[in-house]
Amino acid sequence: MSNQIKVALVTGGARGIGLGIAAKLAESGFTLVLSGRRSLDRVQPALDQIRKHASASIYVQADVSTSEDRQRLLNVIAEEFGRLDVLVNNAGIAPRVRADILDAQEDSFDDLISTNLKGPYFLTQAVAAWMIRQHEKNPASHRSIVNISSVSATVASVNRGDYCISKAGIAMATRLWAARLAEFGIGVYEVRPGIIESDMTASVKGKYDALIEAGLLLEKRWGTPADVGRAVCVLASGELPYATGAVLVVDGGLTLSRL
Ligand code: NDP
Repeated sequence: MSNQIKVALVTGGARGIGLGIAAKLAESGFTLVLSGRRSLDRVQPALDQIRKHASASIYVQADVSTSEDRQRLLNVIAEEFGRLDVLVNNAGIAPRVRADILDAQEDSFDDLISTNLKGPYFLTQAVAAWMIRQHEKNPASHRSIVNISSVSATVASVNRGDYCISKAGIAMATRLWAARLAEFGIGVYEVRPGIIESDMTASVKGKYDALIEAGLLLEKRWGTPADVGRAVCVLASGELPYATGAVLVVDGGLTLSRL
């Protein structure tokens, strides 16, 4: 196994927060595998951006909510690079419609859970098995899994209960995998963003602009994909040893209780 390149998979890595994470990882020397639902031609500009720093990087079209796509994604990485050092479970969706939990429908719940929770949980299971085999061959190399949750893991929003439950589930998944994989030298972490500029939040920009102006945050600005990327990069690079299971909150002070 070559020690010259380290390979990081960022699900949903071709736009938004995922692209911010991929860009920071590429700048710090990782070769990137980006995945997403869109076809290659639609993500080419993002891939070109990443290749400026990490020329061997690739994009794989794969829906994280289907087991066939998850397995195919890992098969491509194995064939192309023969190794995987970092998994960033970033791909996620918001509810199509924000609906009061008194009225919200089951199909939205199923979509949110399969994409935001079941998909990453079982992708982690498959990656963990592969990382354990890599650890047996090369125990000195640092490997990590980083889950992108949300402040919604703990903050109750009654108009998107399905999203909050999916993110609370990812927080527990982080703890479970940290507990199971520590003996194999695999660090498992949660990065918990607050309000970040992306396509996901574009439709509620006015609402959050007003809340930020009114003092919702300690740091009075929108978060950026690069803010989250920096946090992930520290964890993925092994620069926070002795901290498996850690939750890194990147929310400008949103969830800091004040009196
Ligand atoms: P965007 O909507 O901008 O991007 C979502 C990304 O996820 C896209 O790359 C998309 O790929 C990918 N994706 C969605 N569904 C699937 C799927 N089934 N299979 C594979 N890829 C998929 O969202 P953000 O960048 O804002 O969000 C990224 C993560 O950060 C999410 O998990 C989100 O919950 C979380 N988060 C976001 C916050 C915010 O304020 N924006 C705050 C806290 C957490 P494609 O384009 O190909 O569909």
